Formats: sequence, structure tokens, C-alpha cells
Amino acid sequence: MASSSSCDSLAPSLRAARPCLWTRPDRPAQAPAAAAVVDAAAMHAAAARFDRFAPLLAELFPELQASGGHLSAPLVPAHALGAALGLGPGQGTLWVQCDHLLPVAGSIKARGGIHEVLEYAETRALERGLVAPGGDYRLLATPAARTVLQRYQVAVGSTGNLGLSIGVMAAALGFRAVVHMSQEAKDWKKERLRQRGVTVVEHAGDYEQAVAAGRALAQHDPMCHFVDDERSLSLLQGYSAAAPALARSLAAAGITVDAAHPLFVYLPCGVGGAPAGIAWGLRQVLGPQVHCFFAEPVQAPCFLVQMLAAPGTHPSVRDWGLTNQTEADGLAVPRASLLAAELMRPLLAGVYTVQDETLFQHLALAHDVAGLRIEPSAAAGFAGPGMLTGTPQGRAWLRAQGLEAHLPRATHIAWTTGGLFVPESEYTRFLHRGRAQPPAAGA
Ligand SMILES: *Cc1c(COP(=O)(O)O)cnc(C)c1O
Repeated sequence: MASSSSCDSLAPSLRAARPCLWTRPDRPAQAPAAAAVVDAAAMHAAAARFDRFAPLLAELFPELQASGGHLSAPLVPAHALGAALGLGPGQGTLWVQCDHLLPVAGSIKARGGIHEVLEYAETRALERGLVAPGGDYRLLATPAARTVLQRYQVAVGSTGNLGLSIGVMAAALGFRAVVHMSQEAKDWKKERLRQRGVTVVEHAGDYEQAVAAGRALAQHDPMCHFVDDERSLSLLQGYSAAAPALARSLAAAGITVDAAHPLFVYLPCGVGGAPAGIAWGLRQVLGPQVHCFFAEPVQAPCFLVQMLAAPGTHPSVRDWGLTNQTEADGLAVPRASLLAAELMRPLLAGVYTVQDETLFQHLALAHDVAGLRIEPSAAAGFAGPGMLTGTPQGRAWLRAQGLEAHLPRATHIAWTTGGLFVPESEYTRFLHRGRAQPPAAGA
């Protein structure tokens, strides 16, 4: 079977930075390469780790007291927003997974980034006898434990949000924290980190260069742990723990997922770790009736470019004549994580691209119609329903998969990935920019 959007028609759009949809060609025999990288045990281990740390986190972060130290965000219905985005009657119902409300980090990075810091802290703490296996992790908040943890450093390279999550959590646990920021990282994110005692190193280069600089500095220091966004299993594991949580939210909302009730999930994609971890987890927990699409800026479609690449190659969006320039700062990544790409190759339904102006329009629409306050990157998922149901490529894919007949009972989930801490003045500018254009229906 052929892909519903052949490379012949896709390539010119991709190169010209026009919105496009790629769907994964069906392959007769798919090697389950995924199993080797992350498995169901790893996903449940990450969820259990979050649980073990919950009492400590409730103590360290006043905003987590109400949830008992659990990092969670609601799944909410958004029927009117679905209609405003062009989802017609009989095309399913839109819901929003509100990771823009995730506490502490203010973005989806609360799942992966915080997990990796907790895993590192747990390893060091057990090794140093600061806590016993299965013991009370609140001991890590005592001055004696913090004096030990202060000798270790946690470092990361980031366009902003990963740095925020790692820096805030590492500093809260007493680690020395260093965040290498790429040029597009917003000043308010750097300021927020500095206020918490995190060292922020500003780089003139892009995301890849910030990561490379941080990795090089950390490499020769055994007391330093570098969170490697392009290669980390712990990040993927942390993200995958979102899947059992979403399954619980779906059950609580009375939403069925099976052959007659497909689920479409639209995930904003940067380097690919967050959406891949989540998509992989959803496949384990909910089965093959979950169809995940990644959403990328037209100028930074690194995951799409990787899906089109010949085996063994690792292209940059610049190889396609694209700039990697976008206001969606969490998504300004020129080259995908190979780990995430390999994990997704047999599983991903597709990837689509979105113009920045559409991100702002959808950001404003989400505010005006559904009362959601998100950052531009987090709006990328909202173009998904239109791409799938409103374009010839999307409809051809639905037909080829035998999904058209089930569309009326389908659930669409747009995953809003960040926004909680965006300063008011900045958010007001986003809103104005989105309202300056007439609302875009669908893509
Ligand atoms: C990081 C980020 C993403 C994507 O995560 P990756 O792991 O980089 O693919 C999406 N949205 C926001 C707001 C982010 O900060």
C-alpha cells in the first residue's frame, strides 16, 4: 500500500515551508525495535518513581500540596473549539490534554525532565545511604541530605522549557544546576531560573549548539549529570508515564477507545522525545486504535525530515532549505532525536506542519472559545483535526485505514504542551497577534 501523500507532492510543500501532512507508509513487516529502547516495565517504573517522590515534592513545592505531590493535568472537553477549528458534525469530538497547566515546570517537560532529575537524585541518594529503598524520601529535604546533594551538578542544554523543568527541580533538591540556553530562549525563562539559584549560560547558537556545549562541559566531570535531550532514555520513560494517566482520564470521562471508537492524538514535536515517549506509551496502554500525529513548525520540521530520510542518515531542516526560525521556541530544533525517531518509525501515524501565524490564530481561538491560556508551541496540536479531516491527504489516509466510517465516534485529543508561566505582557502580545488575522478554519 502506498503512502497517502507521496513524497512527490510532499517534498515541494515541505521545501517551500507550506503546511503539509505526511502519513507513514504501511510496511508489511514492522520490526518491533521499540521494545529494546523502552518497555512497559520502564513506563510503569517511571510512574512508580513519581509516586515515591510525591511526599517530598509536596513538601518542596507549595503548589503541589493539594495534589499530594503528584504532577498532573486535566483532560477537558472542547467541543466548541473543535467546531471553530473546522471539525464538522460527524467527524468526532475534540478534547484537550492540558499539559500547559502542569505545575512546577509549566510545560510538558514536567513529565520527562523532572523524571530524569528524580531518577538521578534517587540513584545518588540510595548510593550515599541518604534514603533506604522504599523509605521516606522526605529525608532528602533535610539539611544533612542537601549538603551531600550539593556536591553534584545537573546540567542541560535547552531552548527554554526543558531548562526550566530541569533547573527548577534540580535546584529544589539541592543540586547545583546549570542550564545552557540557545539564542531563542526567552528572557523571562532565564530570569525565572536565576531567581532560583540556577546558573544560566547563554549561547549565541541554536538548540543543537547549546546541547553540544553543555554535553562537552559535563563530559569530564563525574560529579555532573548532563540531561541529554537527544539521547536520554530517562526522559522518554518519564514522558511515557503520561499514558497510563491519560488512560485513567479517558475512563473517567467515559471515553471508549477501540476499533469502532478511534483516538487521534496531536502532539507538538521538538526534538521528538516528549511526543515519542507519550505516543509509545499510549500504544502500550490503549492499543493500535490510537493514532498519533506529531505537529511541527513549517520552518523546523525535523521529525518529518527524519521520517523521510534514508536509513543511517540524520538530516537537518537546513538541508531542506528551511531556517529553523519559529516563535514556537520549544519546537525550534533542526535535527530530530534518533532515539525518538527509531522508537516512532513503526508506530507513528503521521506528521504535519503548521505556520507560525496559524499557531497564533489557534492560540487566540483556544483562549476566546475555550478559555485556555497556552504558549504558541502548545497550539500546534490544534491544526491536527483540520489536517486529518479537511485535506485530501488526510481523508485519503482515513479511507485507506478504514477509519472513515468510525469518524463520528472518534475522539481527537490536542495536547497543549506549555503556557502556565508565560508572563501576562507576553501573553497579551500573543493574543493580539492571533486576533489580528481572521481565524483559520482547520489548517
Ligand atoms: C519541549 C516542548 C515540546 C516538544 O518536546 P520534544 O521532546 O522537544 O519533542 C512541545 N511543546 C513545548 C511547549 C515544549 O516545551
